[in-house]
Parts: sequence; structure tokens; C-alpha cells
Amino acid sequence: MSSLLVDNIGELVTNGAGEGPLGIRRNAAVLVEEGRVAWVGPSAYAPAADRRVDAGGAAVLPGFVDSHAHLVFAGDRAAEFAARMAGQPYTGGGIRTTVGATRAATDDELRATVRRLRGEALRQGTTTIEIKSGYGLTVADEARSLRIAGETSTETTFLGAHVVPAEYADRPDDYVGLVCGPMLAAAAPYAKWIDVFCERGAFDVDHARAILACGQAAGLGVRVHANQLGPGPGVQLGVELGAASVDHCTHLSDADVAALVGTAHSDGSGTRTVATLLPGAEFSTRSPYPDARRLLDAGVTVALATDCNPGSSYTSSMPFCVALAVREMRMTPAEAVWAATAGGARALRRDDIGVLTPGARADLVVLDAPSYLHLAYRPGVPLIRKVLLNGVPQ
Ligand SMILES: [Zn+2]
Repeated sequence: MSSLLVDNIGELVTNGAGEGPLGIRRNAAVLVEEGRVAWVGPSAYAPAADRRVDAGGAAVLPGFVDSHAHLVFAGDRAAEFAARMAGQPYTGGGIRTTVGATRAATDDELRATVRRLRGEALRQGTTTIEIKSGYGLTVADEARSLRIAGETSTETTFLGAHVVPAEYADRPDDYVGLVCGPMLAAAAPYAKWIDVFCERGAFDVDHARAILACGQAAGLGVRVHANQLGPGPGVQLGVELGAASVDHCTHLSDADVAALVGTAHSDGSGTRTVATLLPGAEFSTRSPYPDARRLLDAGVTVALATDCNPGSSYTSSMPFCVALAVREMRMTPAEAVWAATAGGARALRRDDIGVLTPGARADLVVLDAPSYLHLAYRPGVPLIRKVLLNGVPQ
């Protein structure tokens, strides 16, 4: 059994036992065996190992868990971004542009894009990334999108209900029937989750409920794009269906927050439905940010994710999202780092990632910095020195 020791860690974020909400340990070491964390303790007492990574006094934290990304697509929408920055509003209508390009792409072209973005994210410290379909919107194109996503991640999400494609524009009921019928049947073998864009201009609450219920009946877990562009029923629908996460949460009513609070675990460990905030989308659409403080102060479990997609948030950078959350959403650096690691894991209902405690997957990041604080303090700077994925240096 080969072992690897990461030692001389100045500041170790465990998200487990230790100082403060991040479970910090100082002058620490992590022993990795068979891809798992086998031991965490003082560097001076670290056991011997076959190989060693000297962190040189730097900070080490769990790899980022990006629980919301759309990586299977073709083309880009840089011109749309430029027009938006010149004053045009974001409506979500540009999704259809990407649908056209995605349908026309070969499998290898889509695969190359997923791999490129996965590599980009990994270099920025992301060790788990959820990948959605949603730019195919035919039975064959949704199934192949998920098949290709599954080559890169086990966290795959069927988003056939991203928008109603142009050919169904005047008969959305028929499209919902397609999504719940043959499209779900073709997609489900490759998907772990089902998601719906529940928004004005996309799917109303009745259609969204029908689609999510079909997915649940097929064994998929529920996530919802909710309350992004305006107030709406998405968050409460997600809670009603026991969603792992409701994502965006930019426009919330008191009743929405209360519904999330109502999913709290009895042991005080947060809420069963996570609010996943995607500040890259507000940045890239020049929109008001979600009120993270209101959620945190109410006791709602919050995750941060990139929403990486070619239209409304073309970033794969979790450090960028951490910096935005601190600067623009008044999260503390500790809250933002927790949300980008353990919070993302909760949003995927995983307890083996997002933490560095014995038994967890050895997914970790060595920073080029003495503290996690630098992720927000030094925005835009490449601070990821080394990444271990499943215990393997990348
Ligand atoms: Zn999204």
C-alpha cells in the first residue's frame, strides 16, 4: 500500500475538528493512503510515508467542490457578453444560440470542451465538479451530453428542462411530455440528478414540478435553478420535493427563506436543502448579488459554485467566486471557503469530499499563500500551487 505525506502545513483547513468554523490546525500534516486521508495531526509527529510533499509552511485546504456547472456545449457567446456590458439586459434567451451550436457539434468536439474546462477548473483547485446537460434538448443530444459528462464526473445532472427549444415554442406541454418520457428514459442511465430552470421565460411551476417528479420516480435526485431573474416559486418547489440544492436564490421572499429554514437538521448541522449561490452569474450579467447574509443569519446552509456556462457566467474559477462572495455578498472569508468546499459537498449530498478528516477522499489543494484568507485578499492571482486528486498529485 503506497502512502504519501503532506507535511509542514502552516495552516490546514479541515472543515472538521479544529479551530473555528473551518476546523483549522497549525503546523499540521496529512497522511494519505489508497487515495484517502488516513491521519491528520501535528507535522512534528507525522508517521513515515513512501512519498512526501513539503507544503513549506503554506496553507492547505480541501479541494473546491463546484456543485453547479454547464460544461457540455459548443461555441461561445463573447459578443453577447460585450453587448450586455454595453447595456443590453440578460433574459436567458441566448441559451438557444448555444443549443444550435451544441446540436451541430461532434461528440469529440463536445468531449474536448468538457476536458478543457475540467482541466482549467482543476488547475484552480476544483477537485469535484457537477456537470449538467441542457444544451442538446433532443432525446439523442441530451443522452450524449450526459454520456460525455459522465466520462469526467460522477456528478451528472439531466437538465432537459433548461429552456423550451425553438421547435416546441408554441407547444410547451408537448415538450414537457418529451422530457418526462423518452428523453428522461434515454438520459437517466447517465444521470445522478435532475434539474429544471424554473423561471419566467423557461418553465413554470406546474411544468417544473411534473418534470422533477418524473426524474425522482426514475431514481434521480432533485436540484432546481430557482429565483435567479426575479421572485418565483422555484425555491419553495425545491423544498417541497426535498431538493438537495436550490441554486441562484437571488430574489427571495421571507417565505422562501422560511421554507429553507424548515429543512434544518435536528442536530444543528444546517439545512437539508442547500442554497447554492452563483455570484459569477451576477458578475457576468451585471445584476444585484444574492443576499447571502440573510440566508446565513437564518441558519440556511450555503454553497458557492461557478455556474460555468458560455452565456451568463463563463468562469471555471472557484477562487474568483470566493472573492466575489466576500467582497460583494459580505460573506466572511471563512464562510466563503466553507461554502466552496464543505458547502458544495452538502449540495451534492456527499460527506466524503469537502473535508480533510480521516476517511475522506484525499482531494486537497496546497496554496501559494500562508492562509486561506489570501483567496479573497488576492483576487485574480493564481494561488493554487499543487492539487492532489484522490491522493494523486496532478
Ligand atoms: Zn446554471
